[in-house]
Amino acid sequence: MTETESIAYDVVVLGAGPVGENVADRTRAAGLSTAVVESELVGGECSYWACMPSKALLRPVIARADARRTPGLSQAVQGPLDTAAVLAHRDYYTSHWQDDGQIQWLDSIGADLHRGHGRLTGPRTVTVTGPDGGHKVLTARHAVAVSTGTRAVLPDLPGLAEVKPWTSREATSAKAAPGRLVVVGGGVVATEMATAWQALGSQVTLLVRGKGLLNRMEPFAGELVAEALVEAGADVRTGTSVESVTRENGTVVVVTDTGDRIEADEILFATGRAPRTDDIGLDTIGLEPGSWLEVDDSLRVPGSKWLYAVGDVNHRALLTHQGKYQARIAGAAIAARASGVPLLESDPWGAHAATADHAAVPQVVFTDPEAASVGLSLAEAEQAGHRVRAVDHDLAAVSGAGLYADGYKGRARMVVDLEREILLGVTFVGPGVGELIHSATIAVAGQVPISRLWHAVPSYPTISEVWLRLLETYRDN
Ligand SMILES: Cc1cc2nc3c(=O)[nH]c(=O)nc-3n(C[C@H](O)[C@H](O)[C@H](O)COP(=O)(O)OP(=O)(O)OC[C@H]3O[C@@H](n4cnc5c(N)ncnc54)[C@H](O)[C@@H]3O)c2cc1C
Repeated sequence: MTETESIAYDVVVLGAGPVGENVADRTRAAGLSTAVVESELVGGECSYWACMPSKALLRPVIARADARRTPGLSQAVQGPLDTAAVLAHRDYYTSHWQDDGQIQWLDSIGADLHRGHGRLTGPRTVTVTGPDGGHKVLTARHAVAVSTGTRAVLPDLPGLAEVKPWTSREATSAKAAPGRLVVVGGGVVATEMATAWQALGSQVTLLVRGKGLLNRMEPFAGELVAEALVEAGADVRTGTSVESVTRENGTVVVVTDTGDRIEADEILFATGRAPRTDDIGLDTIGLEPGSWLEVDDSLRVPGSKWLYAVGDVNHRALLTHQGKYQARIAGAAIAARASGVPLLESDPWGAHAATADHAAVPQVVFTDPEAASVGLSLAEAEQAGHRVRAVDHDLAAVSGAGLYADGYKGRARMVVDLEREILLGVTFVGPGVGELIHSATIAVAGQVPISRLWHAVPSYPTISEVWLRLLETYRDN
């Protein structure tokens, strides 16, 4: 029988995705000894099965679409994408699913990596079951930060396991484009993967239960993305649910509630995420296994002095950049509390409170066209009781956009808080708008008065000129 090793640290981080890594970075920078526990690959979902591979697949797709909209260049890019080269580029960006580089980085900041499955086994205690079945007990003097992320949720359909459906993991790591791919879902993962695989050679059928795509954004985002997917050759069916799915002699057969029968080579379910908290010992500290972990703005679980939940697992905003923002805040809060300094006194910048989570979360959907938003949509602002006005502008009417792409199609909306004359939300949809969204994030997070936005002059001729047009539309109507 192996002996159980016990080690004490200031901080134990459970899960080494981008968020856990950043918590460790901050606590190490503050001089706190830090252990990081990881059961799969250091770098997490984002590095190997989410952000990095999906964006590596999409970048050539979007670049080709932009090139095809550029007179003088378009003739040169009418051919198909080199799918093998795109997949090789994706493999490079995932470091071929090896985490040596990230391990070196953890080493360079002086954090200790413990490979294995971590479970809370009581207050301030994490027990790690290593690959060899051995156990280590890690105790935390100041904090345990849970950043175990999420996993894909599959619907409860009889026999689904035998079909071997794709989740986001298979969709981002596939070694070849399936001839026919059914994508189920209408959110970010579904629309991005439908865009990628349709361009990489698959015939995609997108099955969406609701009325449209991207329903957490302004309605025009989903409309423009659906229109473009259809133009690209995908079959987009809204108001459709999967009733049954089987695999017959290798072929996937999908029957929908509208009576359609669709055959495909693979089926991807992009139908939501669940927190990876079902097997991390939450019951040993009085919390519900499998639940999202509620936190306050310092990312600490209410009622606890030592338990933090950071990133996807707290369900505030399932995005890498937002989780890393939370990690910087949690790290600083843990360090301040460890040194006995009250947060408010040690925090002139409000850097110990994740306020952006409530009002200024930016997101880019890397479809063609891109859809980018920050803050509240009109419907969300109205629902929250704000007195607002939506100001819209056609991006095609902006000279910089016309130069960016021939026949540019896109739209912008700002949601103005009429009481305070600041922006509560901004949405841009169109080619190249992903790089524009940070301007809106500054306006929303900074609560910049509209009267000052007049003095933020966009360069000519860029797509950013839409700011002037939005402000003029607000002033003149
Ligand atoms: C297809 C797809 C594309 C995406 N694209 C983007 C994008 O472009 N931009 C963006 O901002 N976001 C994107 N996201 C979201 C992004 O991936 C997540 O927000 C991000 O990965 C969250 O980071 P995290 O560290 O909280 O969790 P994760 O990245 O999920 O990392 C959690 C880590 O914890 C480990 N772990 C879990 N349980 C245990 C345990 N018991 N013991 C030890 N280790 C454990 C896991 O192995 C994992 O390594 C995308 C998501 C998907 C699915």
